[in-house]
Amino acid sequence: MRLSNYFIPTIKENPAEAQIVSHRLMLRSGMIRQSSAGIYIWLPTGLRVMNKIADIVREEQGRAGAIELLMPTIQPAELWQQSGRYDAYGKEMLRITDRSEREMLYGPTNEEMITDLFKNNVKTYKDLPLNLYHIQWKFRDEVRPRFGIMRGREFLMKDAYSFDLDFEGAKESYNKMYVAYLRTFARLGLVAIPVRADAGAIGGDLSHEFQILAETGESTLYYDKGIESFELASLTGDIESETVSKLQSYYAMEEEKHDPENCPVPAENLRTAKGIEVGHIFYFGKKYSEPMGAKVAGPDGKEVVVEMGSYGIGVSRLVGALIEANHDDKGIIWPEAVAPFKVGIINLRAKDEACTAACDDLYQKMQDRGIEVLYDDRDAGPGAKFADMDLIGLPWQVVVGPKGLEKGVYELKNRRTDERIELGLEELLNKLG
Ligand code: ATP
Ligand code: MG
Repeated sequence: MRLSNYFIPTIKENPAEAQIVSHRLMLRSGMIRQSSAGIYIWLPTGLRVMNKIADIVREEQGRAGAIELLMPTIQPAELWQQSGRYDAYGKEMLRITDRSEREMLYGPTNEEMITDLFKNNVKTYKDLPLNLYHIQWKFRDEVRPRFGIMRGREFLMKDAYSFDLDFEGAKESYNKMYVAYLRTFARLGLVAIPVRADAGAIGGDLSHEFQILAETGESTLYYDKGIESFELASLTGDIESETVSKLQSYYAMEEEKHDPENCPVPAENLRTAKGIEVGHIFYFGKKYSEPMGAKVAGPDGKEVVVEMGSYGIGVSRLVGALIEANHDDKGIIWPEAVAPFKVGIINLRAKDEACTAACDDLYQKMQDRGIEVLYDDRDAGPGAKFADMDLIGLPWQVVVGPKGLEKGVYELKNRRTDERIELGLEELLNKLG
């Protein structure tokens, strides 16, 4: 992409309304703009990052056997009346009346709709286990939308729903998602601690929130430092069930549920930190299938009410969480897996014919090799170009200027380490390609 033909409205000054670094940097680097409180326009680079995150989420959901579909954002109120949540959900739900006076709502989540879909289309235990998911916009009229897209009112979520014949099956489905989550966050280069979120009597410990450690997190966590030995950010290969049970046996709790008097972890092993919740997995048995009548014929022909679980990932929130974990005082430092582009070309002298010709040639060659490249071809000074490129945070920068070209070299800068090396054209392409 040529920057002169693209749309990245960067801002030099820190926007006053942004309290945390990810919000500041998303505004400054031209990834988002606010439309109204907690509702954002995703600009081109912001959208590219969010789509890359969604693709990684998709791949890992698919690997775990979940199947993608797409449910609408607008739902009929009847379904929520059946489950009993229509009144209980309160003011967070955006309620809408259509022209025929039908009560509708903008979905804050989809348990009811998926349970209804299941009920109408699955009749036998032979179709189980089943796990269906979508990546869809949600609306929650949060009391205090803040921190940019981190706590928005409109946000993108992956939500999966599992259906099983019995508790044993449901537990297996749960653990598959648990593993999928570990892999997903590790592929994003994030340390996401699975924190126990006991959902009350039923289910026992079958509820975990995945929390990214960050000073700006809204939750306070207490956890056994033993968890750190799992190197959560690199758990990408096969994850043995032994690892899963071991991880699940470690203590990790949110402050509200942490009881210092009865904590099983000795003080010297207990760590405390702030966390950002990026995912939540949850077994809830028959909570929706019972009132909504989601049953299948079991092996003996008798009807069985199915066991369910739901599994959310905050796809849009992850964009902010990734920036909280990857930035410096100059801007964002994207991990390669989700960077809007892999490399930026900085043409130091747009007015110099040889320099521009070399940049055009390099840009073309990168595109031919399928390297995702953002080419700063603007007629602007080097200072502004360096600052913008650092702010946008692509993992690699190639600086092209007359001095280097005389020697036949290009300067390659690593955004994270600031390491710079000089390379010839072929070496450069091979390194990035
Ligand atoms: P929170 O405690 O942060 O309000 P929640 O328990 O309401 O989260 P879930 O209903 O479990 O969240 O939703 C699944 C995921 O969706 C969360 O783990 C989080 O990553 C994301 N999410 C929830 N609310 C928001 C929001 N207002 N803005 C952005 N992402 C959100
Ligand atoms: Mg909430």
